[in-house]
Amino acid sequence: MIDLHTHSTASDGTDAPGELIRKAAEQGLSAVAITDHDTTAGWDEAAQAAQQSGIALVRGAELSCDVGEAHVHMLAYLYDPQATTLLAMLASIRQARLTRLMVMTQNIAADYPVTWQDVQAHTEPGATVGRPHIADALISAGVVRDRGQAFSTMLSPSAPYYVPYYAPSAQDMIAAVVGAGGVPVIAHAFARKRGKIVSAEDIAALAEAGMLGIEVNHRDNAPEDRALLQGLADDLGLFVTGSSDYHGHGKPNRLAEFTTTPEVLEQIEAAGRLPVLR
Ligand code: AMP
Ligand code: FE
Ligand code: FE
Ligand code: ZN
Repeated sequence: MIDLHTHSTASDGTDAPGELIRKAAEQGLSAVAITDHDTTAGWDEAAQAAQQSGIALVRGAELSCDVGEAHVHMLAYLYDPQATTLLAMLASIRQARLTRLMVMTQNIAADYPVTWQDVQAHTEPGATVGRPHIADALISAGVVRDRGQAFSTMLSPSAPYYVPYYAPSAQDMIAAVVGAGGVPVIAHAFARKRGKIVSAEDIAALAEAGMLGIEVNHRDNAPEDRALLQGLADDLGLFVTGSSDYHGHGKPNRLAEFTTTPEVLEQIEAAGRLPVLR
């Protein structure tokens, strides 16, 4: 079993990178990717744990970008983490996320008992911050039961507290990922519940720009949308992945609830600058 999309405490997951990798090994996965939002901060700890537990590790990240009004998550695998253009892009996204989260916290604090300090107490130093960290502070304050409830109420884009954050265009992001030797794969492309989504034409343009794969099998793509995405991948000559988007206890997603074939992992490794760690 191969799962190419998971999060640790280096972003908004709840397992430390090492814990995440050990769980994946214990649950019988043969390979797992760590794909925290806009950071490689978890890579070293994950690599150590992978070596000790005998699971293959794909180093990756889930990068924030925009296609017009649609906010897109681009998975990027096996890229050089020191490549300067991408490094600078990710630093500015993380900074934009930080400022945005402070403003959202301030907005919510007008109506609920939560402070920026409370939110910070729920993040690891150096982690990429996001709305789930406000959710965790609201859970501790007894305002909501879980992250899901926070997202369907005060953290929703339709709530008065919502603030967007800067992200580069997907075209620029793909160029930077490819420049860093990485493999770009669009995450949960037709996740309609998350907000405005890309069109089939947009996906064709991203493929033209160098995107190599589509994450078709993901719980946020409805079954009929998975069929549409599979058709697009076939037409455009893109490979197809399936993954869990595991976030520890922050989301119901279970490790390996969707999986990727060994053949596709081989294609990813052949296209990437870094090796899969085995
Ligand atoms: P942000 O990065 O601030 O835009 O917040 C979006 C992140 O929150 C996503 O990457 C998901 O990991 C997480 N998320 C979105 N919806 C939910 C939900 N209903 N329950 C738990 N986590 C969620
Ligand atoms: Fe997340
Ligand atoms: Fe995502
Ligand atoms: Zn994700």
